[in-house]
Amino acid sequence: MVTGGAGFIGSALCRHLVRSDAEVLNIDKLTYAANLKSLDPVAARPNYAFREADICDNAALAEAFEDFRPDAVMHLAAESHVDRSITGSAAFIDTNIVGTYRLLEAARAYWQVMPSEKAERFRFLQVSTDEVYGSLGEDGAFSEETPYNPSSPYSSSKAAADHLAVAWYRTYGLPTLVSNCSNNYGPYHFPEKLVPLVIIKALEGKPIAVYGDGSNVRDWLHVEDHVRALELVVERGRPGRKYNIGSRSESTNLNLVKMACRILDEVHPEGAPHQRLIEFVADRPGHDQRYAIDSSVVEREIGWRSEETLESGLRRTVAWYLDNRDWWEPLRGVYRGERLGLIEPTVAS
Ligand code: NAD
Repeated sequence: MVTGGAGFIGSALCRHLVRSDAEVLNIDKLTYAANLKSLDPVAARPNYAFREADICDNAALAEAFEDFRPDAVMHLAAESHVDRSITGSAAFIDTNIVGTYRLLEAARAYWQVMPSEKAERFRFLQVSTDEVYGSLGEDGAFSEETPYNPSSPYSSSKAAADHLAVAWYRTYGLPTLVSNCSNNYGPYHFPEKLVPLVIIKALEGKPIAVYGDGSNVRDWLHVEDHVRALELVVERGRPGRKYNIGSRSESTNLNLVKMACRILDEVHPEGAPHQRLIEFVADRPGHDQRYAIDSSVVEREIGWRSEETLESGLRRTVAWYLDNRDWWEPLRGVYRGERLGLIEPTVAS
């Protein structure tokens, strides 16, 4: 059972699992961030099913567990955009915290009455983010022991959900695992996020906004590397444990934007040099300076390694957006690329 399988990472996970012959039920509420077209490559396969449901809906969850009888739950459904969490945190609290709680309870009710040999193999993976760890200085990287210190409504809601998943293991024995990954990029990414937004703005010849001075550092992970890791964590990971997933591909936002522009200059010279479109704008409130992931545990214990470098992954991503305008052009009606996440000044009374 994959929750949030119509989103960016969830759809990549569904495509990967279905192609590996796993039987997959995708549960998704279909928010603005969902796109069932991302499932077109696998939607007709007999081992794929979709159910529109909200993870906050107890009855719908109980029915899904009863009908599908999963061996594992891979929980990705979430409100995921930091900027949107700054101006509208309610949906983040509802889905990311309450929804995760409801899903854990539905999984526990189902798992408790499973035959014991199946119950032992059952897994619940809470897919989370490195943002729960807060910001790093110039050196070091997040390990699984780094204390949680989230900065945004988004990351604090994910932190709460991770604590619930761990508590359900410690208290009830439900075999939960938590994965914390760095920033993903790749195909089928909703164009509110940095990488697709840069590519699309450059193709449209519109200003490319870089927050602050662009010096914030992120550790970029190709989504197809990530979903391979998620599958392996469920197969080989130990319940009650956390696994950090990153690809040792640190870059400042400005460097990433310039790299995308350079690749576009080569493969789509119309409008080059695309770097001329870069515009520095007001920083995000509470913007964490640097994230970096130490993936040595997942590499050593799970046997996973990322395959893409930032340059190779970005090249493939740019090529995908050039070849798949029919996927992203309709989304420009849903989100036009306007600035999100700025706090309105409060008027003193
Ligand atoms: P996304 O926003 O692209 O997709 C989220 C999906 O969840 C959407 O299809 C949406 O319809 C669905 N959803 C939202 N609320 C729901 C609800 N109440 N019930 C059922 N479905 C609901 O997100 P994404 O980028 O694919 O991220 C997936 C997961 O990975 C999230 O949990 C996110 O916190 C985590 N994560 C993402 C990144 C990243 O870089 N994108 C990094 C680290 C962790």
